[in-house]
Amino acid sequence: LLLPMGLLLALIIVGLVVWFSRRRLSMVGELGIAIERKEFSVHYQPILELQTGRCIGAEALIRWRRPDGRMVRPDLFIAIAEEHKMISQITEQVFRIVIRELRDMLVADRDLHIAVNLSAQDMQNGRALKALHRMLAGTGIEPGQIWLEATERGFMDVDTARATIGTAREMGHAIAIDDFGTGYSSLSYLQQLPLDALKIDKSFVDTIGTDSATSSVTPHIIDMARSLNLLIVAEGIESEAQAQYLKDKGVHFGQGWLYAKAMPVGEFLSFYEVNLRESGAPFPQVLKEL
Ligand code: C2E
Ligand code: MG
Ligand code: MG
Ligand code: MG
Repeated sequence: LLLPMGLLLALIIVGLVVWFSRRRLSMVGELGIAIERKEFSVHYQPILELQTGRCIGAEALIRWRRPDGRMVRPDLFIAIAEEHKMISQITEQVFRIVIRELRDMLVADRDLHIAVNLSAQDMQNGRALKALHRMLAGTGIEPGQIWLEATERGFMDVDTARATIGTAREMGHAIAIDDFGTGYSSLSYLQQLPLDALKIDKSFVDTIGTDSATSSVTPHIIDMARSLNLLIVAEGIESEAQAQYLKDKGVHFGQGWLYAKAMPVGEFLSFYEVNLRESGAPFPQVLKEL
C-alpha cells in the first residue's frame, strides 16, 4: 500500500510543477501581447508629508488588466517580465502613461511630484532612463518632478548603481531605495550611493506597536537613514498609531491605506485638490532643497 501511495504523491507533485510552469509560460506569451496591445494602466497612490498631511505627489503603480477582465498583480508579472527581458518596454510604457495623464497638471503645478518604480534591470542597462529623457523633452515638465525608486536588488552592483544614480541625478531626478530592509543591502554600500531618499518597507511599518523581533529594527533603519541625510518615506501605513510613531521619529513622508489607496488619475487629481485646500500647508522645505 505504501508504494502506490508514494507513487501517487510523486505524480501529484510532478503534475503541480508542470501546471505551474505552463501557467508561467503562458503568462510570458500573454505579457508579450500585453506590451504590444498596451494593456497596462497606472494607478497613483498619494504620498503625504506626515507632519502636515500635505500631499506632495504620488507613486505610480502599474496595473495589468487582461482582455478577460482579470487584474494581475504587479508582484506576479514584474518578476516574469524581468526574467524574459521585457521589463524595459514595460517601464517605458509606465513613463509614457504618466506623462500623458499628468503632463498638463505637472506643468501647471511645479509642486506635484510623481515617483516611478525602476526594476533592477532598468538600473543596470540605463535604457529606461534614456527613454525618459527623450520623452520629457519638450513637455515642459521639470525632470525634478519625476522621482525614481528601485529596490535593493537594483543597487547590488555598486559600481553600476552609482553610475546610474549619477545619470539620474544629472538629469535632475531624485532617486530612492525602495522596500528598504527586505533585501541584501548593507550599511557600507548604502554609504557609497548618492541617494536622495529611503523608503521603509511595509513589513517594518506593520511591526510598529507589536513586540515582534523586527519591530526593534524599525527605529534603527530610521536613525541610519537620517544619519545618511536621506529623506525618509514610510510605505504601507494603515493605522493612526503607526503614523504617530513615524511622525514622532521624524519620518518625513508616508503613504498607505490610512490616507489613500492607489487610484486612477482622475480620482487622484480630485484627492490632490481637496488635500491642498484642506491641509493648507506650504510645500515642504526639505524638498525645496533637493
Ligand atoms: P512598492 O513599490 O513597494 O509599492 C507599494 C505597494 O504597496 C503597492 O502595491 C501598494 O498598492 C501597496 N500598498 C501601499 N499602501 C498599502 C497599505 O497601506 N496596505 C497594503 N496592504 N498595501 C499597501 P502594488 O501596486 O501591488 O505593487 C507591488 C509592487 O510591484 C511594488 O511595490 C513595486 O515593487 C512593483 N511595481 C508596481 N508598479 C511597478 C512599475 O511600474 N514598475 C516596476 N518595475 N515595479 C512596479
Ligand atoms: Mg515603489
Ligand atoms: Mg516600496
Ligand atoms: Mg513594498
